[in-house]
Amino acid sequence: MWVLVLAAGAGLGYSDIKMKRVVIGRHHGTQSTSLQRYREYVDPTLLDELRDLAGALRNVRICHINSTAAGGGVAELLWREVPLLEDLGLHVHWRIIRGAKEFFDVTKGFHNALQGSPYDLTPAIRELYLRHNQEAADVFTDDYDVYIVHDPQPAALCHFRRRSGERWIWRSHIDTSSPNAEVWRFLRPFVQEHDAVVFTAREFVPPELTVPRLAFIAPAIDPLSTKNMPIPSELCRRVMTDLGVDPGHPVILQVSRFDPWKDPLGVIHAYRLVRQDIPDLQLVLIGALAGDDPQGWSMLEQVNEIAATDSNILVFTNMTGIGNMEVNVFQRGCDVVVQKSLKEGFGLVVSEALWKGKSVVAGDTAGIRMQIPSAYQQFLVDTVEGCAQKIAALLGDAATREAFGEAGRCHVRQRFLLPRLALDDLRLIGNLIGVTRS
Ligand code: UDP
Repeated sequence: MWVLVLAAGAGLGYSDIKMKRVVIGRHHGTQSTSLQRYREYVDPTLLDELRDLAGALRNVRICHINSTAAGGGVAELLWREVPLLEDLGLHVHWRIIRGAKEFFDVTKGFHNALQGSPYDLTPAIRELYLRHNQEAADVFTDDYDVYIVHDPQPAALCHFRRRSGERWIWRSHIDTSSPNAEVWRFLRPFVQEHDAVVFTAREFVPPELTVPRLAFIAPAIDPLSTKNMPIPSELCRRVMTDLGVDPGHPVILQVSRFDPWKDPLGVIHAYRLVRQDIPDLQLVLIGALAGDDPQGWSMLEQVNEIAATDSNILVFTNMTGIGNMEVNVFQRGCDVVVQKSLKEGFGLVVSEALWKGKSVVAGDTAGIRMQIPSAYQQFLVDTVEGCAQKIAALLGDAATREAFGEAGRCHVRQRFLLPRLALDDLRLIGNLIGVTRS
C-alpha cells in the first residue's frame, strides 16, 4: 500500500518548499514487483546477485530525493524501482522537494543551461536556489545512511544537510556534456560535495568535475508495469478508436514532455512533409506536464494552436486522463514511434517503444543512440527533413519495421530492464558503504 504524506513544510513560517514523503508499504503475498516475475525476461544470475546484494544491504536506510512525483522519466523510474527494492526487503524512501513556481522556473533554467542553453545567472537567482535548498534541508526530519539526489533541483541539499556518516550520491539524468559555463561553475562545488556522481553515459561528464567516485548507470524500464505490459492488439485498436484515432490509417506517435529539447514542433514539421505523400497520416502527440516543469504549458499552447488547424494531429496530456495504459496502447497501436529529441539524457520512451517491438525514428543524441541496435542507427536523425524521410521509409517497409522492432526488443531486454538498474544502484551503494554481496 502506498501512501502520500505531506511530511513537513506547512506551518513552519514559509510555504515555498515542503517535503512530501512517499511512504512505501510492503507488498504481501501477490507481490506486484517481486523478483520471481522477472525470470521470464532477465538473466537469472543477475536476479540472484540482486537478491543477495539486497540481503546484504537490508539494514541500510536509503532515501531518493527528486522534485516531482509525476510527469518525467525520473518519477517513472522511482515509481518502479523503489517498490521493487522494498519488495527485496530494503529500507527505501522517496522524498520530493516541493517548491513555488519561481523555484522551478529557476531549476528548469538550470536544467536547460546544463544541457548547453544560454542563461543569465543573476545574484538573485543564486540566492533563490540556495535558499530553497536550505529550507528543504531544514525541514528534512528523518535520518538515512545513503541519499540519492536526482538532477539539479536538490543538488545543494547535501551542502546544507549532510551529517556525519552519511553517504550522498548525485544522480544526473540529463546530457551535461557541454553545460553553460556559468551555471556549471555555480553548481559544480555543490555537486562535488557528494561521495559519488552518476551519469547515464561517460560522455555526459561535465568539465572539471572532481568527485571521489564516478559511476555510469543507464536508466531502465519495467516490463511488468502497466506502461509496458502486453495488451492485445484488438484492445489497442478499440481504445485508439475511442480516442479519435483511425487505426485503419497510419499513425505516428511521439510521447514526451512538452519541452523544446523534445522538439514537438519539429515533429509536426516532419509529419507535414510525410503527409504530402501519405495524406491519411495521423500524428499523435502525448505530452506529460510535470510539476517541476513550468515551461511545458507554453509549449503545449503552441502545439495546440497548430493542432487546431489539422484534424489529423491529436494532442493528449496527462491532464486529460491519458495515463500509463493509454500510453502503452498508443505505443503498441501506432505504426512508427518518433522521438525527435535535440538533446536527450536517455529517453525512456525509446526503450518503451522498442520493448513493444516498434521501430523508432529519433534524434541522434547520446542518450538515444545507446538504445538503438547498431544495425538500425541509420534511423537516428539530425534534421526535420531527415526525420520525415526516415518516417516515410519505415511506413513504406513493413519488413524493416518488424525487424527493427524485434532487434530493439532484444537490445532492451539485454540492457535496459529494471532489475539491471536496481543491481547497478545497489552495487554503487554497497561500494560506498563497504558492503558486498553476502
Ligand atoms: N510519459 C507519460 N505520459 C506522457 C508523457 C510521458 O507517461 O504524456 C512518460 C513516458 O512514457 C516515459 C516518461 O514519461 O516513461 C518520460 O521519460 P523520458 O526519459 O522519455 O523523458 P524525460 O521526461 O525524463 O525527459
